[in-house]
Amino acid sequence: MSYQCSQCNSDTEEGFLLEKGDGAMMSSETWVAGKPNKSLFTGLSLRGQTVYNIVTFRCVACGYLDSYALSKQ
Ligand SMILES: [Zn+2]
Repeated sequence: MSYQCSQCNSDTEEGFLLEKGDGAMMSSETWVAGKPNKSLFTGLSLRGQTVYNIVTFRCVACGYLDSYALSKQ
């Protein structure tokens, strides 16, 4: 699956946003290429809730990030 950048129509690459936990020097989110490791999310209690995987595509040309809620976990 691939998307074109909505800003400049260049190719994008798939990744996801990582929220840094306690102890991180920076509070901003980090974009990580590829697919998230399921073990990152252990401990969450989401039973009975509808949860979508958020996939964020990064434009290889301008760096613009576009997020999509694509598939249920
Ligand atoms: Zn772009």
